[in-house]
Amino acid sequence: MSEEVKGDKGEMKHNCENHDRCMQMIQAVLDGSATQEELEHFKTEIKHCLPCIEGYELEKSIKEAVNSKIDKKCCPDATIKRIKASVGLAGIVALALLLNSSWFERLF
Ligand SMILES: [Zn+2]
Repeated sequence: MSEEVKGDKGEMKHNCENHDRCMQMIQAVLDGSATQEELEHFKTEIKHCLPCIEGYELEKSIKEAVNSKIDKKCCPDATIKRIKASVGLAGIVALALLLNSSWFERLF
């Protein structure tokens, strides 16, 4: 119980002092393997920690894209647009590395 949120709740954190831990937590939440404690921490963190919010959006988009690729062997345009909007170019590049270059070419 020694972890306290610094600053007031309305303020966004631009740096995450615990980002590695946060990303593990985010992955666990997305995998559905998070413990109750991790879920609680995640809910607090995701409200005010920008790196965590971005990390979460990116992980989620990648997961969705990978899933839809596995399911349908292609990505619907709506998904691509949403990924572009939510994660930006860095995310697209990360996705392209994760998937394959022919899929990447369809984006442009
Ligand atoms: Zn964080």
